[in-house]
Amino acid sequence: MRVRFAPSPTGYLHIGGLRTALYNYLFARKHGGTFVLRIEDTDRERFVEDAEADILAMLDWAGLSIDEGPDTGGAAGPYRQSERAELYQAHVQQLIDAGLAYHAFDSKDALDAMRERTGQGYNAQTRQEMENALTLDADEVQRRIDAGDSYVVRLKVTPGESVRFEDHVRGEVEFSTDDIDDQVLLKSDGLPTYHLANVVDDHHMGITHVIRGEEWLPSTPKHILLYEAFGWTPPGMAHLPLILSPNGGKLSKRKADKMGIPVSVRQYVDAGYEAPALVNFLAMLGWSPGGDSAYADRETFTLDELVDAFHVSEIGQSGAKFDLDKLDWYNANTIRELTPAG
Ligand code: GLU
Repeated sequence: MRVRFAPSPTGYLHIGGLRTALYNYLFARKHGGTFVLRIEDTDRERFVEDAEADILAMLDWAGLSIDEGPDTGGAAGPYRQSERAELYQAHVQQLIDAGLAYHAFDSKDALDAMRERTGQGYNAQTRQEMENALTLDADEVQRRIDAGDSYVVRLKVTPGESVRFEDHVRGEVEFSTDDIDDQVLLKSDGLPTYHLANVVDDHHMGITHVIRGEEWLPSTPKHILLYEAFGWTPPGMAHLPLILSPNGGKLSKRKADKMGIPVSVRQYVDAGYEAPALVNFLAMLGWSPGGDSAYADRETFTLDELVDAFHVSEIGQSGAKFDLDKLDWYNANTIRELTPAG
């Protein structure tokens, strides 16, 4: 089994990111699998120079050892998406040749005007009034490409179909392609979007299970369509419950700031929290041992015990409230254990 943690280096490692990494790590270790770190750095506008170093340092601090990654190496590398541009371009070309993706030349103004006029996204209906390879003739398309006109490549989504997948946490999930736009696969800078790169890499890196936050659930049907377009089998999926603020609602950065809850792992390190305490706390944020488990009702675990106790099927569906007092309780316990008696 092969799983990956795939952060975008857009800032310091977030506590939610560390929980995702932890669940992937636990799953890999539990099943004697491989834990891959992949840096999803194709969004050059949001790129933060020292984010990757921070991610590596924080995973190391937490004790989550990586089997394959940008530093460690491995047979499925390179592990930074910015170093894989040719692979994505070749795959996009394959979809274009098969008639499953197409060039689109629309300016930002034209896109805005279309959305304003139709109240819709770029889809089977609205694409007909836009400037793309489905409305222009082939010579004109080639002429524009040769002239260096700016373009993106979009997936041609067929409306009226249903996309289904089995999620290890949420059960059967179904979306209609009526709600899925002709998503951009290749951006005008020649780099892939998250959707394309994520699918191409999960396939080529042999990822068997995708374990990630629930905020990515709406992206999954798009990914399933891409797996189908390439003729690949999608990996297993598990979407982790949202992390909620203590009084409910998603724990946004703004909300967290207001409530004095640090959001980057580094802030916890700087504040003197012990790694085993934060790891234990994050493990319980969305998971608890099942009633028939040898660990039933237990709350305190070492990392090795977590590996032993953890089951993906025991991950909950409902959001998990972030309770700083609980973390402090774990931290006090850890410090007590670390302090020699007498
Ligand atoms: N790069 C995405 C992130 O920042 C990865 C999401 C996924 O795991 O597919 O979380």
